[in-house]
Amino acid sequence: SPPQALPHLNPLHILDEDYCGQAKCMLEKVGSWNFDIFLFDRLTNGNSLVFLTFHLLNQYGLIELFQLDMVKLRRFLVLVQEDYHNQNPYHNAVHAADVTQAMHCYLREPKLAQSLTSFDILLGLLAAATHDLDHPGVNQPFLIKTNHYLAALYRNTSVLENHHWRSAVGLLRETELFSHLPVEDSIERQLGSLILATDISRQNEYLSRFRTHLDENDLCLGHASHRHFVLQMALKCADICNPCRPWELSKQWSEKVTEEFFHQGDIEKKHKLEISPLCDSEANTIASVQIGFMTYVVEPLFAEWVRFSDTRLSQTMLGHLGLNKASWSALEPEASGSSEEGESEPGRATEEPSSRALSQGSQES
Ligand SMILES: [Zn+2]
Repeated sequence: SPPQALPHLNPLHILDEDYCGQAKCMLEKVGSWNFDIFLFDRLTNGNSLVFLTFHLLNQYGLIELFQLDMVKLRRFLVLVQEDYHNQNPYHNAVHAADVTQAMHCYLREPKLAQSLTSFDILLGLLAAATHDLDHPGVNQPFLIKTNHYLAALYRNTSVLENHHWRSAVGLLRETELFSHLPVEDSIERQLGSLILATDISRQNEYLSRFRTHLDENDLCLGHASHRHFVLQMALKCADICNPCRPWELSKQWSEKVTEEFFHQGDIEKKHKLEISPLCDSEANTIASVQIGFMTYVVEPLFAEWVRFSDTRLSQTMLGHLGLNKASWSALEPEASGSSEEGESEPGRATEEPSSRALSQGSQES
């Protein structure tokens, strides 16, 4: 790609005064679940990931605590933002900024805030900001069937996630952001373990482990390994929290992710490859894609998260999830009908994630 001019090292100061003021004003509410990342991205002239991450690292006191060099840090964040493909409708730097903002909301939840160390918080924020680095805008099956070099490199296993992680490590080494710290190796390893947890195809593994811990009530956040596991779950939630946002934000994400799926489907059609599930624009709608995603991926995950952290934020997220699903169902009457009437897989018909979430929520409170 052609060399791009790096944004100025102190980017807030080159913005129009008024936009700059509004962006700064928004950052005062960076912990709000209604935070409009799309507006923030426009106000920062497409630099939401740089500004948001820098602001959070600073607000948590991590820059001072870890003696991070300001020039190295800004260069690292700019390189991270530039490594995202802004031509991807969904997997771009705004998604990364959105996940980082959600992660911040989760890090402030009482159970985490009371137990996480500064090192955990640093890792959590960095993992969120880098978790989809250099995403090509197509999924792993596509990379495998087109014999992409990344699929061979990572032996068809968590191909994208491994690439996001190794890209992040590359930028950390290039900028020498942590080269003054004795924990540099540990940062790289833990960053990998967090980013690899975002592989949706391994969700059941993480979910059953989480469920077992909650059933046994044996999560001990004094243990580093348990805190790390909770960070993995928090990052997984942050990554797929779009359906738990207010409708106006949630709807935009749904449109973007479906656009990216359909784009992949169009490429597959053009090259006479088998069209991947959810990627055929003639067989799917935004609503049908969303309802399936919510039912089989998002609801089961958040049902467990609310058991772990039954707070006002969790109830707010479940509330939006229910309303958003109802809104999509109203736009797609057939799709919502079939999930009730056992046309879908029989094993799944018995599972009613939303009602289970509600009953669990009320048991806890
Ligand atoms: Zn992601």
